[in-house]
Amino acid sequence: MRRAAAKSRELREIIAGKGFELNESKCVHVGAAIGTGVHAGAAYVMNDKKITGEPCRAKDMADVGIEKFHKEMVGGIEFDGTSQNANNSDLQIQSISKMFCFAVAPKINPVEVEKALPAKVTVDFGIMGHADVIADEGIIDTKTGVRLHSYHANMGGYRIVARSNDIPKETLKNLIINWIPRTRINSKRVLAQKPPQTICYNPLECEDEAYSQLYMIIEQVMKFVQSGDPASFPRNPMSMMCSEKWCPAWGTEFCKMTK
Ligand code: SF4
Repeated sequence: MRRAAAKSRELREIIAGKGFELNESKCVHVGAAIGTGVHAGAAYVMNDKKITGEPCRAKDMADVGIEKFHKEMVGGIEFDGTSQNANNSDLQIQSISKMFCFAVAPKINPVEVEKALPAKVTVDFGIMGHADVIADEGIIDTKTGVRLHSYHANMGGYRIVARSNDIPKETLKNLIINWIPRTRINSKRVLAQKPPQTICYNPLECEDEAYSQLYMIIEQVMKFVQSGDPASFPRNPMSMMCSEKWCPAWGTEFCKMTK
């Protein structure tokens, strides 16, 4: 949580206000950069579909996605075994875009795309959520990781903000993840894209998970605001992200054990 606090734009201001200087960490992991690119491309074609009703075009999505991916790379990027260089990554964005436009987008009738929606959590704290798409079919998010993780809190947060903003009740019944795996290019330079999977979450379980995490974060922030003690945010030195490259608190007074 301390690393997350050090990375959060809102909390960085509070941390600086207590006299702590954090590092700028601009390096991104290729998985996150591809995800950001795909999201930009998907938002572009979904918006277009919302306005025109026309099917999504994979080339448009890939063009927007690749442009965004290259912007993400500017501060430095760490490639991995699945996406070994920028060329691999561009091909993967094209492949995911094709899969999204042919297999996922036709099932979505968008009402709002990446719309910022606020909600109060307590009297003093609120959140802002930007679900990928709020559609007739539900609240829908696209994931592009190599593996599928648990996104219950994430989706629960989207439901909380949607519920606070007059989104039709029918839509709130479905929380849907479309996972299009980032797929490795094999030794013959062929990318056999793995097909997408659609996962539906239980909305009430997701909200419970979101509230439990939000209350925990609020408690830690309140503690820090009152005490100015970085220990208000638990450390996780076992994390793979505990390094100068990935954590803005590394080697600073905000996380003294790494000094
Ligand atoms: S340096 Fe390591 S332990 Fe400290 S906040 Fe960052 S990730 Fe957590």
